Amino acid sequence: MTEEQIGKNVAHVKAEIAQAAGEAGRDPAEILLVAATKMNDADSVRAAIRAGVDICGENRVQEMLEKNAQGAYEGAPLHFIGHLQKNKVRQVVGLCSLIHSVDSLSLLQEISKTAQKRGLTQDVLLEVNIGNEESKSGFSPEEIGPALEEAAKMTSVRVRGLMAIPPICEKPEENRPFFLKMQKLFVDNCEKKYDNISMDFLSMGMSGDYAEAVRCGANMVRVGTGIFGPRNYT
Ligand SMILES: *Cc1c(COP(=O)(O)O)cnc(C)c1O
Repeated sequence: MTEEQIGKNVAHVKAEIAQAAGEAGRDPAEILLVAATKMNDADSVRAAIRAGVDICGENRVQEMLEKNAQGAYEGAPLHFIGHLQKNKVRQVVGLCSLIHSVDSLSLLQEISKTAQKRGLTQDVLLEVNIGNEESKSGFSPEEIGPALEEAAKMTSVRVRGLMAIPPICEKPEENRPFFLKMQKLFVDNCEKKYDNISMDFLSMGMSGDYAEAVRCGANMVRVGTGIFGPRNYT
């Protein structure tokens, strides 16, 4: 994809976000666009940053380290959005300003331990398996309250909100019930005041359904294909 096309795509996504925010009576400025950059090269990532995405989100540690060494993310914060294995935590802590995909307490503990050794605090989101899918990791909605209580005791992680990937649906509207469930879970847990937790971000919505997600309260959307075109898996 050319830089020009990426620029047009980013402008289109931002316009759709603004429209959806408007419909929901929300300020478009509060919604952050995360470019899901997996399988796109450093030049494409740089083009997206120049076009005005707010954040870059990577899925695979190795790929992220390679692109980072090429200076791909200069000018934008870097987030981790993919499944994170415990043995890769030390490569992500400190490099990424937010890890969206914390799917277990043991991973959270590992992140805290690593951050503590480095003398820093790592911001994270808890991933919710909102469709209760076998194939997906994440906390069940019922587990979020207890997980936040545990997280509040950890010294070197700070939970900043929730993230979800709902089941694959044919039409964006079909995800609405899942997005609304997430919104409720987010709002309910915002009201409880835990130490050292600040429920700021609700990360949900991808290329096929980010507008719906925004209408249901998302303030971080993760868009890949809608910016960079289809990924080449061959
Ligand atoms: C790839 C990916 C996205 C973006 O997916 P698209 O459908 O290409 O927009 C968002 N979130 C996560 C966690 C991803 O892995």
